[in-house]
This record gives sequence, C-alpha cells and structure tokens, in this order.
Amino acid sequence: MARETSNPRVIVLRCRACRAELPAAPNDVAFRCPQCGRGWEIEAGGFIERPSHWVASPAGGSQPFLYLPYWSFSVSAAVNPGRMAEADELGARDKAARFERAWIAAYSIYRPTYVGEWGLAYTRINPKWEVRSGHGPQAPGATISGVDAQNIAGHYILGEIDRKADIGSLDLDLEVGDPELWAIPCYDLGDKIRCPWTRAELAATVLDDLSEIRSAAPRRQA
Ligand SMILES: [Zn+2]
Repeated sequence: MARETSNPRVIVLRCRACRAELPAAPNDVAFRCPQCGRGWEIEAGGFIERPSHWVASPAGGSQPFLYLPYWSFSVSAAVNPGRMAEADELGARDKAARFERAWIAAYSIYRPTYVGEWGLAYTRINPKWEVRSGHGPQAPGATISGVDAQNIAGHYILGEIDRKADIGSLDLDLEVGDPELWAIPCYDLGDKIRCPWTRAELAATVLDDLSEIRSAAPRRQA
C-alpha cells in the first residue's frame, strides 16, 4: 500500500500585481517580487502587500555582493518627564529621540544574539542609505513574519533605551510602524559575508541556507 503523502496546503506563489513567479524556499513567509519589486506576505492563507524598498549598492566596491531580506519599521519613541533622576531622564530622552527606524534581519541566523544581528546594528546607527522602491534586485524570501519582527523591533528599542536608564522607572511612549520588506546588500566573500557599512562579518556557516539564498539572489558584481 502506498504511503500516504502529506498534503500541505498549497498556495500559488505568483505576484498579485504582475503575475511573475515568486522564488520561494520552504520556510519563506514573505517575498519580494523579482519582476516588479512589490512585497507580499502570506497571512491567513492569502497574500497581503507590504511596502517594499531596497538599498542601492555601496559605491566603489569591487567585491561581489548579494541582497538579504530585512523587515523595517518606522519608530517613534518618547520618554515622558516623570519620576526619574534628572540625569537619567535626560539620557533616556536623548536616546529615545534618536530612533527613527528599526530593522530586523528576516533571514535565518544560527544563534543571532551570539554572532550579532545586523538589523540591530542598523537600528543603532541609522545608516544614510539611498533607498529605492519598485523594480530592483532579487532577494530571497523572509523567514520570519512581519508581525513577529515588529515585536522584536519594539524589544530592540526598549533594550537600547534601557542601557541608558532603568526601563522600569520609565514612562515611555513607543510606536512601531507597519512592516516594510527591505532588501539590503552585503558583500559575499565566499566563506563569509561582510556588511559594507559596519564592516561586520558573518561566517557563511551561521546563515541558514546560504546556498539557497545565493541561488535565489545571484551574486552581482558591484
Ligand atoms: Zn510582481
């Protein structure tokens, strides 16, 4: 007797706008259309559109690079004057006011808190990027949902402000915007990838499915 095959629910992965096929690895939950650049997330068995942006590749580099997916959020954080010691309060208010946007890596990393997650670095330094929309580079799909990333973004901001002041004594208004799907380039050095802006490096072995990422997003020459 034939073994019963599992029958996962299949949804047709085509861009709702231009009908191009979306490159999908098994764990992907959101995609950038390789043809028109729109962003789509699987939610409740259907697609919802997410704003989609990409960052221009760094000028002057001669190394091959590839694009990785990130979730990004507008951030508004404000510390209300209150019960804290004045110096702490000013420090926390300065820190809170500096955050404009948060990023969360949407690709799978092995032990991200140990090796360093580049989204947190971008959230700290808010790079002056040339940000574009629409048709652009191919990028692999996101393996975490926009809503999960939104929660992590809130924790990032709280954690950063907490380094300046005890969050327990803080009266904080924090707004994290809706998920946007971003594609951000990094250098692909074979056994590792390097961030063009922070110079941070990640060993290829800590990236889940780097070979799949490479095949979804062919390396380009800068
Ligand atoms: Zn499309």
